[in-house]
Amino acid sequence: MPGPEQGSRTSTRVDVAIQGIRLLDAPLTRPNGAGPSADGHVLLDGVGAAIPLNPRSPYSVSGGRLLLDGADTGLGVEAVGRPRFYDLQTADGVSYEKIARLHAANVLATTVVQTCARYDESERCRFCAIEQSLEQGSTIAVKTPQQVAEVALAAVELDGVTQMVMTTGTSRGRDRGATHLARCVRAVHEVLPDLPIQVQIEPPGDLASIAELREAGARSIGIHVESLDDDVRRRWMPGKSTVSLDEYRAAWREAVRVFGHNQVSTYLLVGLGEDPDELVAGARELIDMGVYPFVVPFRPLEGTLATDVDHVAAPATADVGRVTRQVATALRVAGMAGSDQAAGCAACGACSALSCEGA
Ligand code: SF4
Repeated sequence: MPGPEQGSRTSTRVDVAIQGIRLLDAPLTRPNGAGPSADGHVLLDGVGAAIPLNPRSPYSVSGGRLLLDGADTGLGVEAVGRPRFYDLQTADGVSYEKIARLHAANVLATTVVQTCARYDESERCRFCAIEQSLEQGSTIAVKTPQQVAEVALAAVELDGVTQMVMTTGTSRGRDRGATHLARCVRAVHEVLPDLPIQVQIEPPGDLASIAELREAGARSIGIHVESLDDDVRRRWMPGKSTVSLDEYRAAWREAVRVFGHNQVSTYLLVGLGEDPDELVAGARELIDMGVYPFVVPFRPLEGTLATDVDHVAAPATADVGRVTRQVATALRVAGMAGSDQAAGCAACGACSALSCEGA
């Protein structure tokens, strides 16, 4: 069981993840992109953490210490340095930085297709800014398998990357993007057979895509539902909610069969309006299936509909902390640790406080 010190460390970790840090000279930021955050990557007491940079946050950094309203919290903070591979470019002049990014201290992450078939305002997930970084010119729309493999090789050789995450915007095809993802996995696996790769997809229309991704060389898989409450799903993800929870369950089951127990994960966002007890009950069901529920607080992000149009605030720290602790307890009882996943967000842990709770 975690002791009181661990509990308070989690509270600070959750609070700083929600409120962000100001005055941090973080060379490594992830502006916009897929999913729910735009963060500075830091080591918080030596552990990777993705923390929003917020000039109004009560948290600041001085002398490598995390301060709350000027007082030392007892936690050390270190900014993750700019990786060397960012300064390279492909033979046809595309900066490596536009092809893949360093997350936390040692994860290489790429969105192989930066467009989403559901990006029309009536369909888009309201927390997502996947096409924002494309509009800003900080990435390219489609990464070829060769480009992804070239960058992965450099990131491993120059910056000691130890795992890779590949996600994709949803395509209009029946595979929802899984086929191109499999080609990219295969290309990386050919040049770096020992680099663990996680793929992130929507439930594919044909479940055989899941085995294809495993055969291509992926070791873990994320099939991200974000919420298990259909009302919340319809409000926050009008397009994605047309994929039923039954389809998600079938995809998770197949993924556990193919990738193995605790090599499958899903995001659960706290703060979308779901009943916290139901969220925890849903997380327990996932755990029973062998799926790791990666609990992450919703965080406001410019460029998303939730922030620019709906003005939704971040959830209360206490609520996120309570849900995180309860899910962490269920994970520990089941013997499931994020660090046991070969690659991916659960293995990285930087966007959640679950790892502070021993999960
Ligand atoms: S948890 Fe996932 S999204 Fe967050 S920094 Fe790690 S790899 Fe990136």
